[in-house]
Amino acid sequence: MKKSELAAKLIVPPGELENALVNDFNRKVLEDLAEADFTGDVDNAAVEGAENLLRNFLNEVWAEKPQAHKYVINACLALAFLFKKPMHPQDKVGYITRVENGETGYYCFYNEKGTICDYCAADPVSELETMWEEQSGKIREAFGAESALVRKEILACGFQEAGVIPVEDLTFHEEVRKICEGNQCRSYGTSWACPPAVGTVEECRDRVQTFRYLHLFSRIYIIEDFLDIEGMRSSMKDFKNAAWNLDKKLKGQLGRMMILSNESCGRCKDCTFPDEPCRFPDDLHHSIEGYGFYVNELAGQAGIRYTNGPGTVTFFGAVLY
Ligand code: SF4
Repeated sequence: MKKSELAAKLIVPPGELENALVNDFNRKVLEDLAEADFTGDVDNAAVEGAENLLRNFLNEVWAEKPQAHKYVINACLALAFLFKKPMHPQDKVGYITRVENGETGYYCFYNEKGTICDYCAADPVSELETMWEEQSGKIREAFGAESALVRKEILACGFQEAGVIPVEDLTFHEEVRKICEGNQCRSYGTSWACPPAVGTVEECRDRVQTFRYLHLFSRIYIIEDFLDIEGMRSSMKDFKNAAWNLDKKLKGQLGRMMILSNESCGRCKDCTFPDEPCRFPDDLHHSIEGYGFYVNELAGQAGIRYTNGPGTVTFFGAVLY
């Protein structure tokens, strides 16, 4: 079957979609489906196999709402065979993404052979483990066991590149603070994560120098272009969530540590700054730029890419330990 024929079969007319019992994730897929063009063929038997598995699964777990099954099935088939994306929202399953040469790869912690996962665009995360082991081994040799552990968790949280810089090699630039004060990012003085709340550059330097290593990490996101505000916003949200996840994993395994992250905080709708203390001081990640770092300089020292070409945005963070 042609992919365009499959798309025509799966599209739900807007009038019907308006009243359908469908969650936001699947609704968006079905709306996008109506606007997309597809070329090439799709394997009929595979589509039929996936459809049957999904129908049986929904009859088992959601028998009380048979009228909703069609929308879930259509959205899942569109994702698996047309959009080539995982069939779940990322925050529900926790799959990780990696962008290589402009292509996004998906790696899932729950991928199970012989199930509907066989049709999903996400591969088992175990496919990345060899690479994690290799990278951690090299880091262990150069910077010790703690650095190897940090590297492994950085990659397991979905960050794509990482590099270690000994703290004595870091440069703290007063002029970066002047850029913060210029407030082009509109974050200056708006949260506990940014200047002036993080202290002077000298205070930031003294804080950083109580640690031995800065382990810089980054994650690349595909966006339409630099006017794609929504894409930038959701990428930043995803990056922050991944950094909080990394924080949680490392806290149980490392002694003293601290995480810095790109830009401001953004965790609460309304920050308590400056009237009340931060609501989540244990999870507060200060802005990496606010410490007086040029992130491009750090990327150069850590041996990782600062930019990744048109149609991408790359965010950075760092673990200090
Ligand atoms: S966690 Fe909330 S209160 Fe604390 S800095 Fe972030 S936005 Fe402000």
